[in-house]
Amino acid sequence: LSDRLQGALKKVTGKGKLNEKDIENMMREVRLSLLEADVNYKVVKQFTNEVKEKALGEKVLKSLSPGQQVVKIVHEELKQLMGEDAHGVAFKGHGTTVIMLVGLQGAGKTTHAGKLANYMRKKHNKKPLMVAADIYRPAAIDQLETVGKQLNVPVFSMGTDVSPVEIAKKALQQATENKNDLVIIDTAGRLHIDEALMDELQQVKEIAKPDEILLTVDAMTGQDAVTVADSFHKQLNVTGAILTKLDGDTRGGAALSIRKVTGVPIKFMGLGEQLDKIEVFHPERMASRILGMGDVLTLIEKAQDAIDEEEAMDMAKKFKEATFDYNDFKKQIKQIKRLGNLKGIMKMIPGMGKQLNNVDIDDKQFNYIEAIINSMTKEERRNPNLMSSSRRRRIAEGAGRNISEVNRIIKQFEEMRKMMKKMMNMDERQMSRMMNN
Ligand code: GDP
Ligand code: MG
Repeated sequence: LSDRLQGALKKVTGKGKLNEKDIENMMREVRLSLLEADVNYKVVKQFTNEVKEKALGEKVLKSLSPGQQVVKIVHEELKQLMGEDAHGVAFKGHGTTVIMLVGLQGAGKTTHAGKLANYMRKKHNKKPLMVAADIYRPAAIDQLETVGKQLNVPVFSMGTDVSPVEIAKKALQQATENKNDLVIIDTAGRLHIDEALMDELQQVKEIAKPDEILLTVDAMTGQDAVTVADSFHKQLNVTGAILTKLDGDTRGGAALSIRKVTGVPIKFMGLGEQLDKIEVFHPERMASRILGMGDVLTLIEKAQDAIDEEEAMDMAKKFKEATFDYNDFKKQIKQIKRLGNLKGIMKMIPGMGKQLNNVDIDDKQFNYIEAIINSMTKEERRNPNLMSSSRRRRIAEGAGRNISEVNRIIKQFEEMRKMMKKMMNMDERQMSRMMNN
């Protein structure tokens, strides 16, 4: 058994704190990885500089190498940067919520007008109306109408001779009449940003007073995403972004660029041409995708487990030397509550794993035990032999539990300590004999 412990401890690779060299070495790879994901180079530079500063002097988790630790920090910063939780749409309490889709030609506005209508109808029980405000290509109106038919969602259009502003105005009137509580306006795009387009969008915005202006960005836009997002945001003050075409093999660096430069939250992602291929944005998944360092990231996920394992081994040592006290007991209970960690220790004991599969963990019980330990003095916790009956009474009162419960916990603790000590000193044959009793 102690060989096992030794072996496991040898896997520990971390040491001390991150120094400049560790960080430099790893940052080169991180930088390449971000550029490969098509994150804008200026964003890469700024981001990596910030992370470098943050990382310097940070402790290296025992189960990671310094390089892995740097990636962990980068990954966490990425996650944080891209927003905490998934952002939905801010619906109006009552009345019609208006969403306006803007973006370059081909970004996926028309498709995502349909996807959003479908999604909001299903998930939020909305009654959407889609509005064809792209009057420059007759095909654009046809396209939206086709989408509408496919989904059985009404489309408001007035052909190509009426201005988008007028269309928006009439569409809102119709929405009120028909009790559509969600209006999605599909606007025109250009291949490049131009003044006339921005002016027009601004006018539509003034009339429609949208609750959300969602910038639709093709994830494959890559380096240019920043310029596009920046100018749309400056002109229109967009409220969120939809990152489309993430079903391809693009790593989606545009998400990072957009978020970092404009601060605009990515709210949805498009994952295919079909009209149900839309999902609320997941920062965590995106961070992993952008970083692309699959193996390293998996390793890091496992690191947390490894830390717990190490703590468990620490405990095992304490059992063996019979220095396990109420402080350790409390720590252990905290861990059990988190992960079921006592099971973790026990599983390292050969033959024990299977027997634990059906052990039930009752959270309330653990809270009581914690309360009881909390009522012990420092000395009592360190020296379990002190427990006189007057002390027990005081502890029971302090914890708001009755004395028989305190007695039971103390008895259990003593028995556990004795049994563990015995087990830790057995060899495998003795152990298996005991298990089979
Ligand atoms: P718009 O010009 O902004 O209205 O863009 P469209 O909605 O017409 O989309 C342009 C093209 O991109 C169409 O061929 C769509 O089928 C395709 N498209 C849109 N969203 C996605 C997506 O999430 N994934 C994939 N693979 N294709 C998409
Ligand atoms: Mg379109």
